[in-house]
Amino acid sequence: MLREVSAGRGSLPTEQIPSLQAAGRILAEEVTADRDYPPFSRSARDGFAVRAADVPGELTVIGEVRAGEVYRGFLRPGGAVEIMTGAPLPEGADAVVMVEHVEHMEEAGDRIKVARSLKTGENFNARGIEAKQGSAVLSAGRRLGFAEIALLAMVGRECATVYRRPRIAILPTGDEIVEAGQQPEAFQIRNSNAWSMAVQVARAGGDPQILPIARDNYESTRGLIEQGLTHDLLLLSGGVSAGKYDIVEHVLADLGAQFFFDRVRIQPGQPLVFGTARGKFFFGLPGNPASTMVTFEVFARAAVELLGGVQEARLPLLQARLTKDLRQKPGLTRFLPAQVSADGSTVAPEPWQGSGDVNSLARANAFLVTEPDRESWAAGDMIRVLLK
Ligand code: AMP
Ligand code: MG
Repeated sequence: MLREVSAGRGSLPTEQIPSLQAAGRILAEEVTADRDYPPFSRSARDGFAVRAADVPGELTVIGEVRAGEVYRGFLRPGGAVEIMTGAPLPEGADAVVMVEHVEHMEEAGDRIKVARSLKTGENFNARGIEAKQGSAVLSAGRRLGFAEIALLAMVGRECATVYRRPRIAILPTGDEIVEAGQQPEAFQIRNSNAWSMAVQVARAGGDPQILPIARDNYESTRGLIEQGLTHDLLLLSGGVSAGKYDIVEHVLADLGAQFFFDRVRIQPGQPLVFGTARGKFFFGLPGNPASTMVTFEVFARAAVELLGGVQEARLPLLQARLTKDLRQKPGLTRFLPAQVSADGSTVAPEPWQGSGDVNSLARANAFLVTEPDRESWAAGDMIRVLLK
């Protein structure tokens, strides 16, 4: 699936935006260092710039340099220049001794004593050690977070070229589904999937476009699928199981779709359709809310990220210790609502009533991920966890 999407995404459109508004966006250019970093050999401590060969020993303080200034003289053997954190190392110096390691010989005098030895290069960052002028500091495909945006500021880039957010059509289906603002009849269900998917799409870097609810008949479903296929990616919820009125696959086939798979061995979410039609990718996600959410996270999320320019989509999986015994019927990889402790070390299954239990999913902060070929886990065993 990742291979199909990576190969099929072509050249992605880009836009220039202010770097300060680029948090979460994917960089579409290589950013280089405009000068050496640090641009001068920069003291990492408050103390004295010295020649390492002169210590241990007694030195004469010949001046001072603060951050934002330059010491104009040259440091000769036996001398020291008082220096502040962030100030440039005077010429001739090759180490900084911390103020805490210096003894003043007399009150307000210019003689100091350093009892310990120093290595050349100690307590300052040599010019260019972090990045050389012209070298790449960020490459295309990187998601911009606070450190990356600090880097843009550091190299003087007020604007950055990022990939345009892919437009993701969200198409709920079902005769029983009504909009969230409506008062449902006893036998109707409010459209929660469009909302969960919109949030998941936005979190993955996409621009969610919620379409009207497709009814379980050919005309309605076909019309809205055709509309959905004008977007960068179409996400359907429901209508892909084996029921008499599950007609999504049928409509897609009539539109000339190529199906890469229509079933996955995970629970929740066994019926899951992925393919292309009219040059666009689509996912038919199962309609049960837990199935929709889990299959989005495990499959569709990566597609949204790749279409948004991410180089490598990853699942946020970790390992934690189970708090209680767990059994399952082997055969499927299961994603069970769970609570991970604040420090991430332990995980407890969250009580849940199956794929329709949105309440349990809202309480959970993660999913336990079982291996398909294993039947039981004892309390204390390590198990995989997918963060929510
Ligand atoms: P389906 O995959 O169409 O067979 O739907 C499976 C279950 O998910 C049914 O109980 C549906 O009522 C429910 N469902 C389908 N679509 C939605 C939706 N948009 N919001 C909430 N529940 C849904
Ligand atoms: Mg349905």
